[in-house]
Amino acid sequence: MILYLVIPCYNEEEVLPETSERLAEKFAALTNEGKIGRESRIVFVDDGSKDRTWELIEGLHAQNECFRGIKLSRNKGHQNALLAGLMTVKDECDAAISLDADLQDDINAIDAMVDKYNEGCDVVYGVRSSRKKDSVFKRTTARAFYRLMTRMGVECVYDHADYRLLSRRALEALSEFKEVNLFLRGLVPLIGFKSDTVTYERGERFAGKSKYPLKKMLSFAFEGITSMSIKPIRLITALGLIIFFVSIAFLIYSLIRHFTGNTELGWTSLMISIWAIGGLQLLAIGVIGEYVGKIYLETKERPRFIIEKYLK
Ligand code: UDP
Ligand code: MG
Repeated sequence: MILYLVIPCYNEEEVLPETSERLAEKFAALTNEGKIGRESRIVFVDDGSKDRTWELIEGLHAQNECFRGIKLSRNKGHQNALLAGLMTVKDECDAAISLDADLQDDINAIDAMVDKYNEGCDVVYGVRSSRKKDSVFKRTTARAFYRLMTRMGVECVYDHADYRLLSRRALEALSEFKEVNLFLRGLVPLIGFKSDTVTYERGERFAGKSKYPLKKMLSFAFEGITSMSIKPIRLITALGLIIFFVSIAFLIYSLIRHFTGNTELGWTSLMISIWAIGGLQLLAIGVIGEYVGKIYLETKERPRFIIEKYLK
């Protein structure tokens, strides 16, 4: 079985040397056990890093043939980098596993994933059994994230990030999803096929900083739900909401004025309708606009990633 690991990297110069060493070791062990074939590869996708990440990948490639590199033309974000990697390797491997460059996801779970693949699974999700090593903040925000997703009707596997095995067949199916608004976590369950989960303990990032600060996390969550972010339209929606709440305050205020008897006749109902209906209209336009915006971006069919170099 030919296994490819796909690892998106954005400004990961601090972790790459250690990551590559650990992965090479793991790969050697897997090959010796006969679990994976000698043609298996580790593919780093440089997502337009501004540091020495690409130079490091080139170095690794020159050193050891099991390392490959894909350089994107610019920073496209984690999801797109991941897709770029998967789509590039899909015709060369039997299965691909995606994981993060910081190895927070235990690489010893690869064995179990490969076993599941051999049992006939096309999709194997890596699921975190505990988040003890994450900060309290990360833990609670992540929890809230999965809860929100489920509540919004997005089908996703709880506590599963982007650590998963996809068979060639599943990759082929994934390539049929043409959407520009990428949210792989929500897409993969839609592929179907036989799937299973493998649990592991999530570790700490051993070097470097998280590339997902709160701001990015929030926007990632929002995109997962609407699969896009149309900020101005969203601001209109928010404005609509605010105005609507103001109208409620006005309603109470006007009623009080009415019953204390010092108002012109008709003033109360006028005030309420102007504010309440105006606010609701803005809110509704905003929500519709959100979806129009999504259609707008999808119809453009812009490339989801552009590959500058592929070191084979
Ligand atoms: N990443 C990427 N492009 C980006 C941001 C992040 O390719 O624009 C990669 C990053 O290099 C890492 C993975 O996505 O391999 C996950 O990022 P990180 O570990 O910082 O996220 P966290 O574990 O904190 O959620
Ligand atoms: Mg991480």
